[in-house]
Amino acid sequence: MDYVELDDPASGLRGVIALDRRRRGPAFGGIRAMAYPDDAACRDDAARLARAMTAKCAFHGIPGTGGKCVVRADRILDRSLAVEALARAIDALAGRFFTGPDVGFGARDVARLASRCRFVATGCVSEATARGVVAAIEAACAHADVPLRGARVHVQGLGEVGARVAVALAGRGADVAGWDVDAGARERAAASGIAVVDAPDLLVRPCDVAVPCALGGAVDDAVARELRCRVLVGAANNLLARPGLASRLAERGIVHVPDFVANAGGVVRGALAHLGHPDPDAEVDAIGERTARLLDEAARRGVTPMEAARATVEAALNA
Ligand code: NAD
Repeated sequence: MDYVELDDPASGLRGVIALDRRRRGPAFGGIRAMAYPDDAACRDDAARLARAMTAKCAFHGIPGTGGKCVVRADRILDRSLAVEALARAIDALAGRFFTGPDVGFGARDVARLASRCRFVATGCVSEATARGVVAAIEAACAHADVPLRGARVHVQGLGEVGARVAVALAGRGADVAGWDVDAGARERAAASGIAVVDAPDLLVRPCDVAVPCALGGAVDDAVARELRCRVLVGAANNLLARPGLASRLAERGIVHVPDFVANAGGVVRGALAHLGHPDPDAEVDAIGERTARLLDEAARRGVTPMEAARATVEAALNA
């Protein structure tokens, strides 16, 4: 992993851009702005997220590698100046890093960045991510024999992606409830017609489809034991606190689609548009077919979808 340190005392921009060293093309990955206890935690998160982006690119046939910019939101003094400093740092990489939104760095920040820097995805990346997640949920429900119409769906995290997924699933006839720790996000979601419930433990409450769209690590050993759903598919990057939990979920009969399979819509659309693909949206929709094939293959081979997806990633990276 290569690291580009970000340190601009005037704006308070402090963080890192992690770039997976594999020479497969540009590094694709969003920008995360969150509070971290120290620089090391920020750097570790960037590396983990960049590796997840590499898996996404490899699984979905994007000729590129993984990257991630992680900024310490707790250190920012002036957000406008910080975005300007970030634009200079990304421009200086001359196309080695191509970016977009992530947690804490939404559409407004991305638009501001795009007005100052060439290497930013245009269009609504979170919309493409949500579209891919919905396609993956449809495929997983078909595989698990759970009709989406009337299915009880619980969405954890009603931000840029989660709220869109909730609205889209309700539009397909699902009975959707959502929860977010942030009161503003809850209010915005309720205003767009989502049934917001006061349930911090919504993810583990009985439902047909659990949709984690908040932060990584949301499924740890305890949550893996407590989940009462038949399908687990969401946008959250690095959802499982440790990889072995995929087998735990399979033993419990839960159909789980790995995050780097389901949540790749944003990078698929952004990267392919950047690389001149004629129809990136068709590739976003193809996440549904890829998920269906993955689940069939995993069932046929008697392995978890995570193991089957990892094998596809390894084969692509070694090709
Ligand atoms: P966001 O910041 O817009 O939304 C995340 C929401 O989760 C926030 O509203 C936050 O308050 C909420 N949240 C945090 N902890 C929570 C908890 N314990 N319970 C309930 N809500 C909680 O971010 P986003 O862009 O919607 O991304 C959501 C997830 O999807 C992240 O893990 C991100 O890495 C991943 N992802 C996003 C994209 C994209 O295009 N934006 C692409 C791929 C993956």
